[in-house]
Amino acid sequence: MRSVYSTAMKTYVNPGIVIRRIDLGEKDRILTIYTKDYGKLSAVAKGCRRPGSKLAGPSEPFVYSKMMFACGRDLDILTQADVRESFPNIRSCITTTAHAIYLLELIDKFSEDRQPNAELFDILLSGLYMLEGGTDPELTARYFELQLLRTLGYEPHFEACLRCGNLPRSGLVVFSPSLGGVQCQLCGALPSDGMLVPVALISYVKALKTAEPNRIRELQFPAGARRDLARVLKWHIRYRLDSDLKSTAFLRESQSNTAPQVSPR
Ligand SMILES: [Zn+2]
Repeated sequence: MRSVYSTAMKTYVNPGIVIRRIDLGEKDRILTIYTKDYGKLSAVAKGCRRPGSKLAGPSEPFVYSKMMFACGRDLDILTQADVRESFPNIRSCITTTAHAIYLLELIDKFSEDRQPNAELFDILLSGLYMLEGGTDPELTARYFELQLLRTLGYEPHFEACLRCGNLPRSGLVVFSPSLGGVQCQLCGALPSDGMLVPVALISYVKALKTAEPNRIRELQFPAGARRDLARVLKWHIRYRLDSDLKSTAFLRESQSNTAPQVSPR
């Protein structure tokens, strides 16, 4: 006699990008995937480490696929994946790979399981396409950081001093993550987490924030502005995450193996 309860597994289809993976047993992997409509989720890719498995390619980090999942008791199962983009150019270079991994790690750290944010998905995908298309990896990462912070409501305020609304024409201003932006030096005690940056940096932030992704390659950022922007955003992100990101060490290492454009501080 047939059970009144259906034994067919519920399935759903969604575009997804692999952000992390760990091996499971001898042939499987647990993938952490950022999906467009379900946010971050974990799913088992059964047999994906077996030679010739159709899930082998789609289980690689930052591959973008149309995925089909079956609802499992503990973890959902990735049953099928049609690769839309595997980003071969990113993979061909250790520097772009390191930057792509950094984008994935930021998405991972800033998102909770099953909290959909389609805009965040689009920002990640756009960042990967920028790297694939040869946009400066460092500026791509800074652009991505600014977009991500804006989407999550953590955007640092660079437009003017947060206390008096003015901005000096030259000299230094203080950037403070706890303040959420910049303060001029005339406005009283400096925040304890303040970091001095040239006021000239602000015009570079504006240029980057307002640029279309396909125009980033045209921006000319001197080494000093790159270094200061990286420091400021890293400091802000660190404050937000309250932890350092593992991949920043890897990034630093990968850059020291190629021709570095910035000198490490
Ligand atoms: Zn002020």
